[in-house]
Amino acid sequence: MVPHLHAPQNLPGLSSAGQLSLVHWPHQCEVIRDRIEHIDWTPPRPEPLYTPMGLEMKPSYQPAGEGTVIYLTEEANKDSGFVYSQVRGLSPSKQILHQNGDNTLIFEARFESGNLQKVVKVNEFEYQLTLRTDLYTSKYTQWYYFQVSNTQAGMPYRFTIVNFTKPDSLYKRGMRPLLYSEADAKKHNVGWRRTGNEIKYYRNNAGQGGQQYFSLTWTFQFPHNRDTCYFAHCYPYTYSNLQEYLVAISKDPVKSKFCKIHILCHSLARNIVYVLTITNPHEGDKDTKRKAVILTARVHPGETNTSWIMKGFLDYILGNSGNAQVLRDNFVFKVVPMLNPDGVIVGNHRCSLAGQDLNRKYKSNLKEFYPSIWYTRNMIKRVMEERDILLYCDFHGHNRKKNVFVYGCERKQQAKAPNLHPRVFPLLLSKICPDKFSFPDCRFRVQKSKEGTGRVVMWKMGISNSYTLEASICGSKLGQRRSTHFNTKDLESVGHHFCDALLDYCVPNMKYYLCLKEHEEMVKQQAKVNSEGLNSDVLDRDSSTQTSNSSDSCDLVAHQLKLGTKIKTKTSGEHIHRIAKDRSRESKNVSFKMEVSTSTSLGQEQTTQGIETLHKIFQELDPVGRDLNWGTIPQPIEHFISQNLFLPPTALQEMCYASERGGVRPVSGCHPPKMESRSREKEEKIHHRVKLPITASVKQVGECFRFWFSGSEN
Ligand SMILES: [Zn+2]
Repeated sequence: MVPHLHAPQNLPGLSSAGQLSLVHWPHQCEVIRDRIEHIDWTPPRPEPLYTPMGLEMKPSYQPAGEGTVIYLTEEANKDSGFVYSQVRGLSPSKQILHQNGDNTLIFEARFESGNLQKVVKVNEFEYQLTLRTDLYTSKYTQWYYFQVSNTQAGMPYRFTIVNFTKPDSLYKRGMRPLLYSEADAKKHNVGWRRTGNEIKYYRNNAGQGGQQYFSLTWTFQFPHNRDTCYFAHCYPYTYSNLQEYLVAISKDPVKSKFCKIHILCHSLARNIVYVLTITNPHEGDKDTKRKAVILTARVHPGETNTSWIMKGFLDYILGNSGNAQVLRDNFVFKVVPMLNPDGVIVGNHRCSLAGQDLNRKYKSNLKEFYPSIWYTRNMIKRVMEERDILLYCDFHGHNRKKNVFVYGCERKQQAKAPNLHPRVFPLLLSKICPDKFSFPDCRFRVQKSKEGTGRVVMWKMGISNSYTLEASICGSKLGQRRSTHFNTKDLESVGHHFCDALLDYCVPNMKYYLCLKEHEEMVKQQAKVNSEGLNSDVLDRDSSTQTSNSSDSCDLVAHQLKLGTKIKTKTSGEHIHRIAKDRSRESKNVSFKMEVSTSTSLGQEQTTQGIETLHKIFQELDPVGRDLNWGTIPQPIEHFISQNLFLPPTALQEMCYASERGGVRPVSGCHPPKMESRSREKEEKIHHRVKLPITASVKQVGECFRFWFSGSEN
């Protein structure tokens, strides 16, 4: 028996007044009272990466005693562990060091999600910065976010952060730090933007006793005199930002009807971990047939980009588009937008206040130590008791690779119907956002070291489509977005595309079938490679060149995809049936069903059955039956359609002949279903466009099928 969630509550703290008062901090954390806010802004065009010149300086580490310490907070591991928390944190007992009225910069990071432990002024315009490790640990540095004031415009400043611990970094490959100027925000409505020149990431001389440290250095100019500016590793998204977002939902008379916000549990510091249940209200017992989709984010606090992806997802799914309606009609979404609020609040990079990486604790039963993880797993178990889970995905940010991609889980030898194969969903995603999402970067091997992660545990619990979505903290290597940074709108768009992919996956259109086809081809190719004993790897083709220390990226698939040369596809009856019903609300008057046979060697009975089925589909699609004679359909298109409807060409041919022989009117195809609600004008436009593919490419035929299935123009 799986314990139940907390009963729905009126969300204490989610009132317009005093919502931030409920942010709990570890008792020893000093927190300034200023409210830090940033405006939303998107740069007019994608911001380019930095191109290293090879001549960048590598300032050496200045040991204690050299330079002037101008900012210093408690070290993270002064206390051995978390004891208790208090609302708002501790009022600062003292100003931090510097106060002398000269032009020395004034630093501050004692605010939500801030991270900076120490600053040494090396010379007039040069500062050496040390990050605070995750609380109650002596490691994990990556995330930084701090305020600088007392600025001078146009002067050649240099900052060097000296205590990174990872040898590899996206700063080696063009990533630039983010800068926010309050004056620019106020005067020009400009928000976070990339900054920095002479950027260099390198091993420094600070290491002792085998420990190595790495520096990030960059030069820049402040845009205004006497300005207050901020620097960050990625676009901040705090716990308070989340609360504000949730308040807005709970106050919205429309959204609050299909988005229920509950308390999943409380974190160690007594911050609320929220869970959202999103689905359209249902009649009767229909609801249990809805499959569930589970999404989680911010288990790693420093991966702030995932909150922007989550925001994009929520904006879309809570919006009023037809697609969002369809998704809410068909699924129950369970969303935990911030798994590690404590870590987010205190500005950790990776850990919770237990000093542990929560994404290795999904097997743990230590409910008191890792509450959000325990309750998430428990919630998922409960969901599984009442409905199927179509997909689980935990959002992460990647600090060494570009692009967006997923890690999934795949059995070594078990053949699967391709539509259930964990590679199909990411393949779809790659088609939908080709300039950000990279299928070749995806990995599907289950590794021992990852056994405690959400995706592996959920997969072992029975969720086939169990993923970690990784979004580069930097940017893309693909298409038009090559060598540019991701901004918040890009990240939000990944959330939108995730919804689009879900829709294509569950209400298949031609894109879906093309992906199945492509996947099948890849598997065949892989099998061929395997049987020829070659040591290359088609599916994970760049894995052999990986030098990263991430074990995730060393996914050798050569032995894992023995799916056989013949893929048995089941399906489609169910899927296609749903297309007509669900793809668009408008298309309710169309329903067709296809019991599809599958292998490429059909018996007579199956062929007949297939013909009849196809016949029915076309009849239902185009009851008037004009135009197109299937007997004259060009071979490539015929071949394509037969492949994608899982019918052999002979069956299709026979069907055409049969219909002519039997004196039946020619079977018509490539017509969208008629819809009463559609104006004649629109109807004609669609018909006009739908006729195109008959003499055209496979791609256009795909579009044609898309019209059928969507019953609309897009
Ligand atoms: Zn992560």
